[in-house]
Amino acid sequence: MASTSHLFFTLILITLACSAELQPWTDWDKLQSCTPSFYSNVFTREEELVAFLKGSSSWDQVKVVGAGHSFSSITLTDDGEGQTAMLNLDSYSGIVSVEEGDQDGVKHVEVKAGTRLRDLNTLLEARGLALINLGATAAQSIAGAISTSTHGTGSSLGSISSDVVGLRLIDAMGVVHDSRQEPNVLIYGRVSLGVLGVISTVTIKAVPLFKMKLSKFDLPLTELLENHDAYLANYSRFQWSTVPYTSTATVLLREPVPLDTPITDCWADPPTYPCVDVSYKTLVDSLERYDNRTLYTECEHFIGRENTLPAVNDFLDFQEDVKDQHNESKCDLFFNIRYVAADDIPLSPMYQRDIAVLSFICLGTIDHTGDSSEFKMYASGLENLTKLNYDGVPHWGKQNWATYEDIAPFYQEMDDFNAFREKLDPRGIFLNDYTRVRLGLTT
Ligand SMILES: Cc1cc2nc3c(=O)[nH]c(=O)nc-3n(C[C@H](O)[C@H](O)[C@H](O)COP(=O)(O)OP(=O)(O)OC[C@H]3O[C@@H](n4cnc5c(N)ncnc54)[C@H](O)[C@@H]3O)c2cc1C
Repeated sequence: MASTSHLFFTLILITLACSAELQPWTDWDKLQSCTPSFYSNVFTREEELVAFLKGSSSWDQVKVVGAGHSFSSITLTDDGEGQTAMLNLDSYSGIVSVEEGDQDGVKHVEVKAGTRLRDLNTLLEARGLALINLGATAAQSIAGAISTSTHGTGSSLGSISSDVVGLRLIDAMGVVHDSRQEPNVLIYGRVSLGVLGVISTVTIKAVPLFKMKLSKFDLPLTELLENHDAYLANYSRFQWSTVPYTSTATVLLREPVPLDTPITDCWADPPTYPCVDVSYKTLVDSLERYDNRTLYTECEHFIGRENTLPAVNDFLDFQEDVKDQHNESKCDLFFNIRYVAADDIPLSPMYQRDIAVLSFICLGTIDHTGDSSEFKMYASGLENLTKLNYDGVPHWGKQNWATYEDIAPFYQEMDDFNAFREKLDPRGIFLNDYTRVRLGLTT
């Protein structure tokens, strides 16, 4: 019975694939685009994904797209590479189960891969639960977020991937692998760059719902730099930013408060600081705040935390060196610093070292050219100095120009990752140009 329905589903998809006109796909702010031979967002069950992949011999490339919220080309199919398929899992969303975890109060929540973090936050809130940490937005899908090691800030808090305790993954032949039976699925799959197969479900830790006070204030940049280590030591969720060519730093602090503290709406526009809200509303911006932006592109580099101040000072010096090339009308610039705890995930930028994350953001109206000379000048400057002086590695999902030679010395388990990948996908259908270059798989 199951195989008849698989066959039927596959036949429908093949018919759709043959009849569909090629449509370009673009990411959230239209900076990355590709034209897959086939695009589908109809998947509602794991069995349907299995059926699709069992019939995947006709595809030269299969990429899964989450929310399309990466700034790098990690998600793209490669135009001109034969028959390419892009699968969107937006219809495969929701919580599968909630079970007791092995730590006090911690639950293990199994979530369908396409679930957007914003939806997961509200589903968890309704159950009196919350994720431990989040990045700056919750627009991503859970599988997309972990695939690039998405993180927030917190001196002893890891990335979202580091809170993952279980995975179900479908390989290129349509075989389902569950980390409960195959530990390597969890070891390598928590940060998979989308190249191990289609993640079907993610089991992630959740804690009892909590509230936080969010404070945001400005102070002189020199004062922030003088007191940097004290801020980091005294506040578990510290981050800060500065606008190039100003002498001001903006600090964001989040501190837990008792659950009965009244909410003052951190998503008000604008909020009155300090504000108090359920944790996720203090961690991420409301989606409207991002939607209203005309352009937003970003690069981000991970360095050992002990090098934070030297690297920040080097980049401030670099900014002075290129000041005469700054064109205010093209980009509003932000230099943002966060902190993430070490983990043991082979392709995690936090692999075995506590990290400072230096990101550079261009907000503006430069007509969707993320490689504009303005952004690229700063982004490549930050990439070069973190790489050459501080063993920096880039965020997999943000703009970067890294090669295998640049990053292989840091990712000591990359060969093991590649060997595992080859078992799951001998034909390499989940690879694309971006991942081949960085995994050393170009020939
Ligand atoms: C406004 C904005 C703010 C951001 N803030 C942060 C931040 O604070 N911290 C941070 O670390 N990053 C941040 N990012 C980057 C973002 O979190 C990552 O790029 C993330 O991977 C995007 O998730 P997505 O669901 O959009 O995935 P996509 O970009 O669509 O895909 C990313 C990768 O995941 C793979 N993938 C997706 N679903 C599956 C699946 N089911 N199975 C296998 N592979 C899959 C894709 O193939 C691709 O390789 C931000 C991005 C934006 C646009």
